[in-house]
Amino acid sequence: MRTETVEPMINAMSIDVEDYYHVSVFDGIVPRVRWDQMESRVVANTTRLLDLFDEFNVRSTWFVLGWVCERHPELVAAIARRGHEVASHGYAHRLIYDQTPKAFRDDVRRAKQLLEDAAGHRVCGYRAPSYSITPRSLWALDILLEEGYTYDSSIFPIRHDRYGIPVSERQAYPLARTSGTLVEVPGSTTTIAGVNLPIGGGGYFRILPYWWTRWGIARLNNEERRPAVFYLHPWEIDPEQPRLKVGLLSSFRHYRNLESTEARLRQLLRDFRFDTVNALVEQCRRNYSPDRVAALPLPYCW
Ligand SMILES: [Zn+2]
Repeated sequence: MRTETVEPMINAMSIDVEDYYHVSVFDGIVPRVRWDQMESRVVANTTRLLDLFDEFNVRSTWFVLGWVCERHPELVAAIARRGHEVASHGYAHRLIYDQTPKAFRDDVRRAKQLLEDAAGHRVCGYRAPSYSITPRSLWALDILLEEGYTYDSSIFPIRHDRYGIPVSERQAYPLARTSGTLVEVPGSTTTIAGVNLPIGGGGYFRILPYWWTRWGIARLNNEERRPAVFYLHPWEIDPEQPRLKVGLLSSFRHYRNLESTEARLRQLLRDFRFDTVNALVEQCRRNYSPDRVAALPLPYCW
């Protein structure tokens, strides 16, 4: 009797490389002119994550802030040298819908140049600060294409107070725009009673119990046969980071369970297999023939 072996699903692992004070909720508390005066912890935290991924032999994608790359090009070079993909988190961590198209173009162009110079390879992926491509900032996708980016990971198919397009696709897909077609790589969700709920990292990974993430990714992999896209920030494994004064909700979202996140990440790396986001993008391109892409409806024309 022939037994079929099912290959384990390869998920995408990604890290948004920024320091604790770059996070959008601290915008009004640590203005950009003060960034250089803050205690910097991004190199140490990123290096700890690099060592962890070495230990588990995992390749991943690092969406690095251009501002961080400008000050620590050797960190970006090390990410690339250690076999990972360097991608862009923009330059100054400004929410897209708060910028003009011209300012956004300057921001992503500057970041791409800095990152490519430091990494020594082409940068083709972008992730917006706080997933800020929403119905009012879809124009950003055309600018990304014009600036040479070929995939984006900024549209979260959920309802959230700062971001999200709940009706958008839940898996990587080609997104046709007037400037061309890019691959959109949404953060992962599971659907319960018709509502998309996040299972792929960040605050949801830290704050909710670990079984939620493990159950959600397993459900996505085994029932839907889709890979997950996981994301985390270097500051999320750093319980020693200086505490900044914010409101109760923001404080809970940022500081909750920092001391246990590294151990959770180790468990996640034991439980699932991961590769770069670009590997998932290539897989998506193989699944969609040009004819199929041409026949796709334009989902975001409103
Ligand atoms: Zn960010």
